[in-house]
Amino acid sequence: MALSFLMLMRTREPLLPHTTPPHHKKAEPFALVILDPGHGGQDSGAMAGNVLEKDLTFDVAQRVDRLLGGQGISTLLTRTGDSYVSLSERAQLINRANNAIVVSIHFDDGPRPDVSGIETYFAAQQATGVATIASWLPFLQKIANNQPNVESQSLAQFIQQQLVAHTQAVNRGTKAEQFYVLANVRHPAVLVEAGFLTNKNEIGKLADANYREQLAVAISDGILKYRETIKASGDDLDGASP
Ligand SMILES: [Zn+2]
Repeated sequence: MALSFLMLMRTREPLLPHTTPPHHKKAEPFALVILDPGHGGQDSGAMAGNVLEKDLTFDVAQRVDRLLGGQGISTLLTRTGDSYVSLSERAQLINRANNAIVVSIHFDDGPRPDVSGIETYFAAQQATGVATIASWLPFLQKIANNQPNVESQSLAQFIQQQLVAHTQAVNRGTKAEQFYVLANVRHPAVLVEAGFLTNKNEIGKLADANYREQLAVAISDGILKYRETIKASGDDLDGASP
């Protein structure tokens, strides 16, 4: 996994149409983690009795926020309380930030009560650094669409791996999906669906603060491992260049 990731990182660089900041040894791969707790306010998301998705997402986001803060990593939440923030407002807030990565947190609604587990999404095509131009310039849009979304896919894999390792939940894998907040932001972005509110067993686990803490530790660890891997590949690239 790590090796194929590094190879993708190598092949991607020359393909970028817009310039990435020049490599500095040991440069931080990102300066900010934006945590996006799903739903809020009048939008409760999935529900199981009095267990509401919007409360779970906010609780887990706050836990991740605390854990990353403890590692000296800057964070930003797309909502700071039980308030309604539209998807486009979230994307705009995210796109105003520089050098960030994004983790959107959700819980799922299954088609059947026996469906359970955790999955992490990334967008196969994402807005580029010139999102506002790309939206009306077909040429740039085409280039953007041809870019494999390596960073987001890798971030999804690191986080998914940690989530499954920490919780022993059913591994539903990483999946490509054009969710609004993933597709319309210019930073590496993933969306975690950390359990089903239609599954009795998972509702029981999610009601337990210790389990939610484990989810948060897993998301935080996934972010840290993603950062370590990019840092290592950056050093490697610097050393290898003629
Ligand atoms: Zn949701």
